[in-house]
Amino acid sequence: MTETIPLSEPSLEGNELAYLDDAIGQRHLSALGEYSRKCSELLGAAHGAADVVMTTSCTDALELSALLLGIEPGDVVVVPSFTYVSTALAFARQGATIRFCDIEPVTFGMDPNHLEALLDGSVRAVVPVHYAGVGCDIEDILNATQGLPHLDVVEDNADGLFGSYRGEPLGSFGRFSTLSFHETKNFVCGEGGALVVNRPGDVERARILNDKGTNRGAFLRGQVDRHTWVDTGSSFGLSDMLAAFLYGQLERRSEILAKRKVVFERYQVMLEGGQRDGGYSLPVVPEDRRSAYHMYYVILPDRATRDAVIDGMRVRGVASAFHYVPLHSSPYGLEVSDGDGECPVTDDVAGRLLRLPFYNNLSESQADRVVEAFLAALAAC
Ligand SMILES: *Cc1c(COP(=O)(O)O)cnc(C)c1O
Repeated sequence: MTETIPLSEPSLEGNELAYLDDAIGQRHLSALGEYSRKCSELLGAAHGAADVVMTTSCTDALELSALLLGIEPGDVVVVPSFTYVSTALAFARQGATIRFCDIEPVTFGMDPNHLEALLDGSVRAVVPVHYAGVGCDIEDILNATQGLPHLDVVEDNADGLFGSYRGEPLGSFGRFSTLSFHETKNFVCGEGGALVVNRPGDVERARILNDKGTNRGAFLRGQVDRHTWVDTGSSFGLSDMLAAFLYGQLERRSEILAKRKVVFERYQVMLEGGQRDGGYSLPVVPEDRRSAYHMYYVILPDRATRDAVIDGMRVRGVASAFHYVPLHSSPYGLEVSDGDGECPVTDDVAGRLLRLPFYNNLSESQADRVVEAFLAALAAC
């Protein structure tokens, strides 16, 4: 009996355990330690950012951005329907009304044309996602928001770290962007995240809100002689043990991205031939974007085939999965949104998308097994 191939599998890629050991030896296990600073500097340089605040998750980083923007009841926040819950939840829990935007059919990012139709004076934030690590049409999205001075863009870049759009890093376009280091992402520490702060004017307040509304950070840096409660906030900070593990991963970013690119291209080549006969289609990375290679998916002709292929692959010892269940028609999405809820491309893609196993160390023989199982399951439909 051969082992089932999982959808995703975290792996040690470098000095994670040595750094974890070192962090414990330094006796600074909480937030704002030495490894947290190293991660923040590395990520800041990669984005050309004013600062990067390490958090316990991408969800927390999104919540922090909502607090920094002062989102409150009456404000509208536009998010794609085709995304993880957190993109919308972080703003909904501040009392915002959510307006769901459809996706365009190439990268499955927010559709700039639909966005334009959704914008009005009550919209305070727009939160695009770079799906699967491929940049969305961010320039058209920014253009659509021009002339609305009370509106800010927050990029949910959970999947796109080190990807780029027309040579610029994903995550460097919005006022803020957010990252995830959850075990299913490209760079992991179990649970972790970061808020990328792109404007110097936001740096001080981002640090305060990340540290329970206190100016303890400024105190530790010797900038004030005592620290006190100065603002709203929460305890969003990443433990230095997790930051140490994460730093071991981030140091190996070139190797990790190269491995993922190999797996992605292997699938593309192996599946290309069957596209016309099989009636499925493969991911497209537009010429002007560099993917972060977060996942691999196939689009099947209809929902029934997709669901049958998932079952057929499971029987053949290979995991596969659908992805986001549209938020615009979810129970809580209906409660917190104001739109007419029409996102036809989201409904279509969500019903037909199938994710294949995708992780750093997926071997050539495993990829062979995945493709065999996929084609056999599809042929049996
Ligand atoms: C994974 C993911 C999140 C949530 O990340 P956490 O670190 O688990 O909070 C948010 N948005 C998108 C697009 C994601 O893929």
